[in-house]
Amino acid sequence: MNENRYSRQILFAPIGVAGQERLRNSRVAIVGMGALGTVLSNHLVRAGVGFVRFIDRDFVEPSNLQRQMLYDEEDARQHLPKAIAAYEKLSKINSDVALEPIVADVTAFHAEKYLSDVDLILDATDNFQVRYLINDVAVKHNIPWIYGGAVSATGTYTAIRPGETPCLRCLFPEAPKPGTTATCDTAGVIGPIIHVVASYQATEAFKILLQATNAYNPHLEHFDLWNNTHQQIKVLKAKRPDCPTCGQRQFEFLETSPDDELATALCGRDTVQLSPREAITLDLSQLAKRLAPLGTVEQNRFLLRFYIDPYTLVIFPDGRVLVQNTDDIATARSLFAKFIGN
Ligand SMILES: [Zn+2]
Repeated sequence: MNENRYSRQILFAPIGVAGQERLRNSRVAIVGMGALGTVLSNHLVRAGVGFVRFIDRDFVEPSNLQRQMLYDEEDARQHLPKAIAAYEKLSKINSDVALEPIVADVTAFHAEKYLSDVDLILDATDNFQVRYLINDVAVKHNIPWIYGGAVSATGTYTAIRPGETPCLRCLFPEAPKPGTTATCDTAGVIGPIIHVVASYQATEAFKILLQATNAYNPHLEHFDLWNNTHQQIKVLKAKRPDCPTCGQRQFEFLETSPDDELATALCGRDTVQLSPREAITLDLSQLAKRLAPLGTVEQNRFLLRFYIDPYTLVIFPDGRVLVQNTDDIATARSLFAKFIGN
C-alpha cells in the first residue's frame, strides 16, 4: 500500500508526519470486541496504530449484528469467535498493522500478561469487574486507559492517566450493584451511541499516543442521544489519597486465591461461563468424538458446540466453557462435570 493512505490524517496539523510515525510505533490493547471494541479497532487500525491486540471471550451471534460493525451474517452462522472474525476483517482493512487476536476472558490470572506491555488500554467491556482489573494493571504499570460504556441511548467515557487523573476506584469505589443501574439485561442499546462513545475514546487515544497534552480531556463525559443532553463532569478533584488502588497501591483485583469463583453468569445472556483455574489445552476433536453419542456436536477451528437439550455447551480449546440457557451456576457446573470432567 502506498504512503498516501494516511494523507488526510497527516494533513491534520496535530498529527502530521511525525505524529503518524508515532502512531505507527504505538501499541494498544482493546478489552472486549463487542460493540465498542469493533468501532475502536476499526478507528485504530485504519489510522495506522502499529500494534493492536484485542481480547474477547465470545463468539458472534445474530443479535450482535445490529451494532457490532465488523461482523456479518456469515460470522454468526459459523459461530466464529469475535476476536477471530475481527482479525479477518481488520487484516483486510490495513495489512500494515500488527494484529493480535486473543480468544480469552480477561481474568486476574491473565490481565497482566495481556495488558502490561502496551502504551494504552481501551475499555470496551460491559462489566465493572473487568474494568477494576484493567484499572489495577494500568495503575500498577503506569499505563493510561480509557473507560467507556454505553447502554440504551446513553454513554460515558473518561480517560484515566495514572498519577494525573483520578483512577476508576476514586470515581467508583464499588461496582454498581446489580439491579441498580440500567444494564444490557433490561435496557437494550442503540447503535449510534456506541459510535459516539467509541469515537470519543478513539480520539482521546490518539491524543494520548501523540502526547498532545494540551488537548487532553480531563473530564468525564456523559451523553444521552435520545434526550439530547450532554454533561461534562469535572473529575480531576475526585482523586483520593486514600484510594486503595492509586493511593495505597493495593491491587486487590489482581490477587487471586484457589477459592476464587471462576463461574460467572453473563449479563443478559442466559449463559454461565466456567473458566479453568490453570492454563490447559483441550483436544476438541477428541472431545467431539466422546460427546457425539450423547447429543449433537458441531465443531469449527476455534470452538466446539454440544447441544444437550435444553442446554448448549460452547467449549473453547483453553478449557473455557459457556453453558447456554441457564443462569444457574450450579446447573452449569454439574453439566461441566458430567460431560467434560474436571
Ligand atoms: Zn484511585
